[in-house]
Amino acid sequence: MPRCFPEPYKIKMVEPLQVTTKEYRQRCLEEAGYNTFLLASKDVFIDLLTDSGTSAMSDVQWAGLMRGDEAYAGSRNFYNLCEAVQEVLGYAHVVPTHQGRGAEHLFFQNFLRAGDVVPMNMYFTTTRQHAELAGGLFQDVIVDEAHDPASRFPWKGNVDLEKLRALVAKYGADRVRMVSVAPNVNMAGGQPCSMANLKELRSYCKQNGIRIFMDITRIAENAHFIKEREEGYAQWSIKDIVREICAHSDGAWMSAKKDGLVNIGGFLAFHKGQEDLFEQCRSMVVVYEGLHTYGGMAGRDMEALAIGLREVCQADYLAARVGQVRFLHELLDEEKVPLVHPCGGHGVFLNAREFLPHLDQDQYPAQMLAAQIYAEGGVRSMERGNVSAGRDPETGQNRRPRLELVRLTIPRRVYTQTHMEYTAESVIDVFRRREKVPGLAFAYEPAMLRFFQAQFAPIPQE
Ligand SMILES: *Cc1c(COP(=O)(O)O)cnc(C)c1O
Repeated sequence: MPRCFPEPYKIKMVEPLQVTTKEYRQRCLEEAGYNTFLLASKDVFIDLLTDSGTSAMSDVQWAGLMRGDEAYAGSRNFYNLCEAVQEVLGYAHVVPTHQGRGAEHLFFQNFLRAGDVVPMNMYFTTTRQHAELAGGLFQDVIVDEAHDPASRFPWKGNVDLEKLRALVAKYGADRVRMVSVAPNVNMAGGQPCSMANLKELRSYCKQNGIRIFMDITRIAENAHFIKEREEGYAQWSIKDIVREICAHSDGAWMSAKKDGLVNIGGFLAFHKGQEDLFEQCRSMVVVYEGLHTYGGMAGRDMEALAIGLREVCQADYLAARVGQVRFLHELLDEEKVPLVHPCGGHGVFLNAREFLPHLDQDQYPAQMLAAQIYAEGGVRSMERGNVSAGRDPETGQNRRPRLELVRLTIPRRVYTQTHMEYTAESVIDVFRRREKVPGLAFAYEPAMLRFFQAQFAPIPQE
């Protein structure tokens, strides 16, 4: 039995779930064209599609909602949010936005110049899109281990400084004006960066006049891994580690829908010395989001976020959070289900290429695996492989990425250990009948971001 980490909270209100039959789910799946994004949430039993905006708030946060000051200008909740950002993250200036991509939009429009190179530790969909819309050229500078599901390297989120040096040599320091670093990299499986790597990166960037802007969406989960794994940090508080991470940047954006422990919200934040950029972003926020003291959030939402930023830094909360994800990972690993190693912070990633080795990647094994897990137990997951990667615009061929994965993303404070055991059973039941699982072919393929709305049909077996 894997080790358990008891949750440091208990249940005060319950949301009933619908229990359905396999026959019913099979019909839902066919109607959804084997795409879990097209299922109605009422037909899902355990929803592991995403950890974004799906967290359960605490009673203190719910009480905070009642203290919403819905004044158009100067809401007291905005000042509370600024205070929380300063205390937890150490940033002096805050621009609130409706969610993470709103902050990315403001940031890239104001910072980037057309032709700038934007190195990131792997891409994130919306971040890369906003960098490109502002005329930037995305370049991946994550360590090679991040692309290898079998590698047990503990810091798969690290920036490879050699790759960054090569970019500066190739494009010149005037085109590489920033690096974007995301702690606990989403697309790599929730994998952390080490403090040593951030320090080394900071020192290199200082020498070369390169600014560092962080995507701090999952910063508390990264801090947990540093406390647990990196020498010298075991006695540090999570808050001190979080502030230390942010100290290695010039500014940051956050999708508060993850480590903010709220259902909606985001912000941009800057350290002292970045006043010009802060003021530019603050003037643009009124065009796209709302006045600079609410940026698209209700007063009550800012209050819940101010509280969430402090709650997420509780060490025993994080131990239970990451412990729950690891519990599921270990249950599956014991049965030899192919997984991405080591276990990340926000979900368990199945290696569909090895799970369904009889399928060609153009028969969309990860898409079918997600569909089968839903049909088996009503557990909803997400494809992150050939369908998500899309087609090469020049050749029209599938990109066939190295990682062909299914993501089981765990919402924060929502599900119990029994739900994890049930999820593991559903995956293992599919694993036992894996040889009989057929591939898929497109029935409808949208031109852009096809994974959201595509439909499929099983390929008939001989
Ligand atoms: C979710 C996410 C975003 C985008 O934030 P939204 O709140 O969904 O707009 C940006 N970066 C990372 C790493 C994310 O996970």
